[in-house]
Amino acid sequence: MQDMVQRKGYVEIYTGNGKGKTTAALGVSLRTLLAGGSVFFAQFIKGRGTAELRLASLFPGLEIVQFGDGEFVGMHASEADMAHAWKGLQRSKEAVTSGKYDLVVLDEILVAILYGLLSVEDIRDLLRKKHEYTEVILTGRNAPQELIEAADLVTDMKNVKHYYKAGVPAREGIEF
Ligand code: ATP
Ligand code: MG
Repeated sequence: MQDMVQRKGYVEIYTGNGKGKTTAALGVSLRTLLAGGSVFFAQFIKGRGTAELRLASLFPGLEIVQFGDGEFVGMHASEADMAHAWKGLQRSKEAVTSGKYDLVVLDEILVAILYGLLSVEDIRDLLRKKHEYTEVILTGRNAPQELIEAADLVTDMKNVKHYYKAGVPAREGIEF
């Protein structure tokens, strides 16, 4: 297989209330890996073992790390939540500046902003330091306007209907 050709990387945002943000980021990751590229996939907030963690054993070019403990509830961020998010930000900054990865996914990082674990300025700073050849995808609900302006591609997943409302919880293999 041919390795990916180095070329300009853009900043993408997948936001909105509809299903598909993390799934889309995983889909692009798969494409990058199958094209011979390397991926750093950071999952903010999440601590519960998602099925996608197992992708790392299939693809040597993938590093996937969770920065959360899965205990995060609603709007009450604890010191531990802040520490996880801060560590995630530092590792992500290293990943985007290093030039080592073709793609860096910051999954749910917009939710970390929403809960006050990280600031918009933290992310703007990270994006300013991005390596020219690295593509960055940010996911999560409620993308702040300043980040929408800083991005090159923004997709808003519109919620038309979701079984969550009917009481269907997140299911393994479908939502995690
Ligand atoms: P996916 O990972 O399936 O692509 P997503 O990344 O677009 O979804 P998230 O915002 O990360 O969606 O949603 C995480 C979880 O929140 C979902 O698995 C679902 O169970 C739950 N959820 C869905 N809709 C709502 C809602 N309106 N309010 C609270 N939780 C919801
Ligand atoms: Mg998600």
